[in-house]
Amino acid sequence: MDKKERVEKRRRIAAFFGALAGIVLLCGILILKSGTKPGIILASGDKKADSNQAPADVNQQGVKEYKKVPRPDHNHPAFKERVDERKKMVATQIRARDVKDPNVLKAMLIVPRHAFIPKSQRRYAYSDYPLPIEHGQTISQPYIVAFMTDALKLKPDSKVFEIGTGSGYQAAVCAEIAREVYTIEIVEGLAKTAKERLKKLGYKNVFVKAGDGFFGWPDKGPFDAIIGTAAAKRIPEPLLEQLKPGGRMIIPTDSAWGFQYLVLITKDKDGKIHKSKVMPVRFVPMTGEVQK
Ligand code: SAH
Repeated sequence: MDKKERVEKRRRIAAFFGALAGIVLLCGILILKSGTKPGIILASGDKKADSNQAPADVNQQGVKEYKKVPRPDHNHPAFKERVDERKKMVATQIRARDVKDPNVLKAMLIVPRHAFIPKSQRRYAYSDYPLPIEHGQTISQPYIVAFMTDALKLKPDSKVFEIGTGSGYQAAVCAEIAREVYTIEIVEGLAKTAKERLKKLGYKNVFVKAGDGFFGWPDKGPFDAIIGTAAAKRIPEPLLEQLKPGGRMIIPTDSAWGFQYLVLITKDKDGKIHKSKVMPVRFVPMTGEVQK
């Protein structure tokens, strides 16, 4: 290869890398301009999602947006602990009753309930009853958690809202099946502990906030499923608004003579609300706005 050929070869290599750098730069500028956040994949031809809006499933152009949401990673050692007790709990307390959805049974088998319970109560974690948690609140009986989750008929792309995070256990069970769970807890100390616990356990698809769940979480709604885990004097109206058509909600409500019932609410495709009492229960009261 003479000198002229060597110069020509270098010139071609430089031109190739120059063009490559140009393409990379152009792609970078396009991504920045589109405002796309990491983790959000838009179907081709979609416009940017308004970051102040709820993560819509279908954008204004009627094109479906796919949100890439992290799944629980199950790397924490707690997932490997007390597995036999969880198997027994699922077999005897849940499958033996009327919960048959394999996704719910699997979620109940995976979530390490003992990691959500105060140390003094931990040995009873897989027993067939509710347990006290901090701030005078309770974690529901495993069967009730499974029953309520089952009633929501969650799918892998469901977006869930919960009132009453408590320990975070119910939120974790939903997060095993659904895409995202938004949960609000009125007692600040509980919200903080649950948030830290869920983060430590790898539940990256659960979002915890301290506040009054009566008002829902408007900028994250509408929701496919809503679950209330504190007994309400009446069904909070904002939650009915934040339920998607075709969505399902389950919530304990106060009834006559001091009884409480789980009420299943569905919103049909035309936005009409249907309610049915499904089971007598005992929950801690919902506080805040609903009591006014
Ligand atoms: N889901 C919980 C159990 C919750 S017990 C778990 O899996 O552990 C009910 C919780 O609802 C309590 O922690 C209580 O503080 C909370 N709560 C009561 N009223 C509320 C309201 N208006 N908004 C949000 N949380 C509320």
